[in-house]
Amino acid sequence: MLNKLFRRSLAFKLTAIMTLVVVFTLGIAIGIYIYFEKDFARTSEQYQFSFINREFEELISYTSGKDHSIQPGHIIEKLGENASINFITIYDTNGKPVLSSVSGPQKSLSPDRLKQLEELSNNSSLTVSSKKTLDYIAPIKLRVSCQRCHTNGTTMGFIKISASHSAIYFHTYDMAKKFGFIFLSSLIIFALISVFASEFMVIKPLKDFVALIHKAELNNFLPRTIQTREDEIGEIEDNFNQMLSRITNLMATSVERERELVFVKEELKYKELLEKRSEQIERVNNELEGSVKELSMLYNFGQYIISTVDMNELLRIITTAIVDTLNYKECAILFKEDNLLRIVSAWGFEDNTRLIGIEFGLEEGISGAVASTGKPLLINDTSKESRYLHYKGQTRKEGSFLSIPLKYKNTVIGVLNVSNDMPGSLTKKDIDFLTAISAQIAVVIENARLYEQTKELSITDDLTGLFNRRHMRVILDKEWERSNRYHQPLSLLMIDLDLFKAYNDRFGHLKGDEALAIVSQIIKMNIRGIDVPIRYGGEEFLIILPDTPAAGALATAEKLRKAIADAFTENNTPMLTISLGAVSYPEQMFETIHEFLYASDVALYEAKRRGRNITVKYDGKSMQENNT
Ligand code: GH3
Ligand code: MG
Ligand code: MG
Repeated sequence: MLNKLFRRSLAFKLTAIMTLVVVFTLGIAIGIYIYFEKDFARTSEQYQFSFINREFEELISYTSGKDHSIQPGHIIEKLGENASINFITIYDTNGKPVLSSVSGPQKSLSPDRLKQLEELSNNSSLTVSSKKTLDYIAPIKLRVSCQRCHTNGTTMGFIKISASHSAIYFHTYDMAKKFGFIFLSSLIIFALISVFASEFMVIKPLKDFVALIHKAELNNFLPRTIQTREDEIGEIEDNFNQMLSRITNLMATSVERERELVFVKEELKYKELLEKRSEQIERVNNELEGSVKELSMLYNFGQYIISTVDMNELLRIITTAIVDTLNYKECAILFKEDNLLRIVSAWGFEDNTRLIGIEFGLEEGISGAVASTGKPLLINDTSKESRYLHYKGQTRKEGSFLSIPLKYKNTVIGVLNVSNDMPGSLTKKDIDFLTAISAQIAVVIENARLYEQTKELSITDDLTGLFNRRHMRVILDKEWERSNRYHQPLSLLMIDLDLFKAYNDRFGHLKGDEALAIVSQIIKMNIRGIDVPIRYGGEEFLIILPDTPAAGALATAEKLRKAIADAFTENNTPMLTISLGAVSYPEQMFETIHEFLYASDVALYEAKRRGRNITVKYDGKSMQENNT
């Protein structure tokens, strides 16, 4: 722990060193003191006595100088003020004590001592150390001033001043203690000032500086030391700051370079990528352009061929579109019927009509092969292909030829053939494109077929909602039979719109259709539930009136004629009228239903002949007009 503190903390180190210095110095001082203690003491005693002696001398010279007689008691009293003096004794010239600062008898000076004193040179004294005391014995010399009162010899007597060792020691020790205390205090103050000074002037700046270095170690080169000093540390900090700025600059430059490098690399990468992409885009664009063109052609073609459900019209549209719009020289469509392929439509040939109806076996020629395999066949040069039959010799010998199966729900329903004059002018692209088209063609052809079949199966008419002519036969047969079986009257009303061609010409075909629908509505509203209205032809209607005799039929006819004329009257002018032929069974007898039906037609014809907008009842050979 201490070791760690010593190593880590400079303050601790300095404090420790200071403390050691203080302790060491103190130790040495104490050692010196102990070692030289006696010498010190002696020196001190001697000093003390020399001091006393000097005092004594001064005292003597002072009193004698002022011409005062000095008394021994006075001397004792004066010198006794000295703290280290135990007692003072004054002797006469014979060594007998005259006066002492202590009471009681005092010893005389020994003859040896007297002899020693006599031998002393001027102004010197004896110092005698016994066990307990240290004695100072000095002769009291006769001075000039003293001779006024004292005449005998040169010495007036002797003075002994005694001091105990302990008192002197104590005095010296006290001095040493004071001196030691001052010395120690100075040392401590010095140490403290050193510690604080080093802490604030060296340690703290160094610590801040070290913190900064630590930051720099962590790659944080931005902080700087705050420059407040001009000493060595300040210089170091200044240098370090400069170093940091250089490092920062270097780093900034290197970062900049790195970034530039990265940018350049990225730019290069993107440039390469861009070049690649633009190539790709160009390629895709070209492909797309082709595809869009193809798609729009496909779309247009699709739109074009769904414009009709009439089979003949449809086939004509397909073949002409392929030749005129898609720019193939010739086109033919063959239908698969039982085990044969038959040309049903052709366009672009020298004589299209001559090709219609030509038949091929299912294995015969290119078309036969395509129909049986269900796969397209491309003949680059028809003159070199033995299977190519040139439509049984109807067409030229040279060119390219492509045969595509028409497939509906995976079944071959026919074949689509195109051909060009130039050998090799048809490619795989044509196969793909025509295969796509052939799927559409197959669908619309199937639709047209379905439409035809539905039309054949339907019993109502689309435009008017009335029963159609096919269904008429069923009903008429049934009613004819019932009328015969139950002897019930049966009437027919044959209706034809007057001058309808002119109406169409005047208002347009669509308005004509609308008029037909309105007429049908009026018919439906003016007949009974059991009556059966039929669209007999374009603008011809037949109404079967079961269980209705001639009178009822004629009434209905007239009601209808008037209602229709009213419905189409504008500014009192009827724009559209009808003529009716009526016939009733068994009022008029007929052998067959055909005769019966025919009779209604005869009556109608008669109505027309008579000027239209009337009802004519069939009456054998002579027609009876009913125009009420
Ligand atoms: P009329 O019968 O009075 O002798 O004269 P018409 O002009 O009506 O002559 P006709 O009956 O012979 O002509 C029938 C015309 O009816 C021909 C055709 O223009 C028109 N027509 C037939 N069916 C339709 C149809 O479904 N819609 C439209 N708008 N017109 C039709
Ligand atoms: Mg007609
Ligand atoms: Mg008509």
